[in-house]
Amino acid sequence: MASPALLMRVVASAYSVAEKAATIVRKVMAAGDLGIVEKTGANDLQTKADRLVQMSICASLARKFPKVTIIGEEELSSDEVSEELIEDGHCEEILKKTCPAEYTGIKEEELVIWVDPLDGTKEYTEGLLDHVTVLIGIAYGGKAIAGVINQPYYNYEAGADAVLGRTIWGVLGIGAFGFQLMEAPAGKHIVVTTRSHSSTLVNDCISALKPDSVIRVGGAGNKIIQLIEGKASAYVFASPGCKKWDTCAPEAILHAVGGKITDIHGNSFQYNKEVKHMNSAGVLATLRNYDYYASRIPNTVKQSLVP
Ligand code: AMP
Ligand code: MG
Ligand code: MG
Repeated sequence: MASPALLMRVVASAYSVAEKAATIVRKVMAAGDLGIVEKTGANDLQTKADRLVQMSICASLARKFPKVTIIGEEELSSDEVSEELIEDGHCEEILKKTCPAEYTGIKEEELVIWVDPLDGTKEYTEGLLDHVTVLIGIAYGGKAIAGVINQPYYNYEAGADAVLGRTIWGVLGIGAFGFQLMEAPAGKHIVVTTRSHSSTLVNDCISALKPDSVIRVGGAGNKIIQLIEGKASAYVFASPGCKKWDTCAPEAILHAVGGKITDIHGNSFQYNKEVKHMNSAGVLATLRNYDYYASRIPNTVKQSLVP
């Protein structure tokens, strides 16, 4: 049999790399010293886990795929990465899937990998552990085409018998795996949004949608999980703050199951390596009924958010 397409090998490796990342996230928390550093302020934090995981993911993927562009959230000194942080495994099950024809010819230098080593850092420091995810998004031609979301503390409140942590992955044209796809309750408008980065604009936008209920949780990865598991019908964030590494993996997985994510104006995100990191015009995402929400975003909100 011919060797699997590059894209499938990258996703299969990203899967194992994300599982290694999850062990680091749990280890740092268990050890108790989070080594918290404020980046732009008290609501923009970095911990030892963010640092170690980014080193682990970027070094592991770069070693296997040296010509791929890898962009990680954290600015780190370029010290030698210790061997114990390197993961060289891959997920066999992913290699068995057929690569969509349009992606079979992709070369390493054409891929951009967006890494959020720990999404939901604020919540991690506050012990809201199931909000935390590790995000590895894979882009080609400016488009998010594949992604891995690991949730290191999935099931952590389900008791000692439950398996802790899970890995969700997806590729456009193949689908998404590692969870049970569910639709939100029909006829109910449940909006999921930020819990630690609210503003008047964020709240005004949500009020204008007249939701039946609002779920406030941390993490862009976590909020996309709420959509694909039917807990919420729309992710609405009318604010800058979210970056390309927050949306790339979630976008690929959401799109792989027929959902849609854009900025508040309805513009799709671009993920080529030259793109601006900030999603300045916010986020609007749904699994179903995108148009319902998009058509109800007030013009005043749109005018306040320049792409
Ligand atoms: P949240 O929904 O608040 O968890 O935000 C989703 C992602 O965007 C997380 O990675 C946050 O760190 C990031 N983010 C959103 N708003 C801000 C902000 N005002 N400053 C820094 N990061 C932000
Ligand atoms: Mg993040
Ligand atoms: Mg992060």
